Amino acid sequence: MSHKRAGGESRRKFLGGVGAAALAASASPKGLGAQKMGELHPFGFVIHGGAGTIERSRMTPERERAYREKLTEALLAGYEVLKKSGGCLDAVVAAIVLMEDSPLFNAGKGAVFTNAGTNELDTSIMDGRTLKAGAAASLKHVKNPILLARLVMEQSPHVMMVGEGAEAFAAQHGVELVDPKYFYTEERWQQLQKVKEAEKSPPPKQSKLEKELRAFDEHKFGTVGAVALDRAGNLGAGTSTGGMTNKRFGRVGDSPIIGAGTYADNETCGVSCTGDGEYFIRVSVAHEVSSRMRYAGESVERAAAGALEKVGKLGGTGGLIALDRRGNFTTPFNTSGMYRGVVGPEGRPRVLIYKD
Ligand code: ASP
Repeated sequence: MSHKRAGGESRRKFLGGVGAAALAASASPKGLGAQKMGELHPFGFVIHGGAGTIERSRMTPERERAYREKLTEALLAGYEVLKKSGGCLDAVVAAIVLMEDSPLFNAGKGAVFTNAGTNELDTSIMDGRTLKAGAAASLKHVKNPILLARLVMEQSPHVMMVGEGAEAFAAQHGVELVDPKYFYTEERWQQLQKVKEAEKSPPPKQSKLEKELRAFDEHKFGTVGAVALDRAGNLGAGTSTGGMTNKRFGRVGDSPIIGAGTYADNETCGVSCTGDGEYFIRVSVAHEVSSRMRYAGESVERAAAGALEKVGKLGGTGGLIALDRRGNFTTPFNTSGMYRGVVGPEGRPRVLIYKD
């Protein structure tokens, strides 16, 4: 099994204002690279919509446009909050809610199906100023899981709630609950059928199905995440997902696990991950990025690449977004693509999907 190395090592930085042209020019082939978002009031916002086999040749222009539009909308939602000196967590939540409401992403409305044909959602959020965190897993009725993660953080003495208990807490706090049918999308349902069929198939048939699965792989992932640096210099990060198609036995991935899928610390960086959750848990990727910065003095770019390399060495695929307290950011991934975007103080969102 071969693994591509994590994203590029662009050393380019902004020296002054951040124009759209500068941002575009500085995009490295395998990610946006590490750049500085602004010198005076360095606020900035980075999002992702999942990593996976996302290739130009498989994408229709309509579909690509839909992704670009939604990612841009999410970036601008966060930007509007930050521009008005709003808090980083408000920006994170604003963008993630928009992506949860879109069937394009594997979160909220577009969540993938479990083996049992249900949708079970996981989420987490972290405040880099206080190191407070909130998470919820195995949700079946919460329309916008990220809102519940924030409530767990702010309105309870706990960090993580799961299943029925989490939903009882959600109901108590007026979080919108929906019939599980809300999460049904034909595309995700068909995806589950394909994966199940592939499981049943004897090896000779496997290769044809493998091809089909590859075509579907762009939908396998699609977790969403956001990291914001606000004008007060605070970092916040959040992640929301439907997990992995065909997951069983109450499986929970990295997304709701603080330190694995999400982490934020004002002294280092904010991180949100996407990919094969089991590997991201084993490497504690989000905390690994922060630790490398803190203890080894690595840049956010080097720290993120190093953490992702560990995932790759174990056999895991995926990517992450990371933003440091000075506004440097990086978006490495070891898959063929990752939906991602960034906006700085200039307010011109930049969205990227493929490696180039
Ligand atoms: N990390 C998520 C999980 O393992 C899936 C993803 O990011 O696509 O649940």
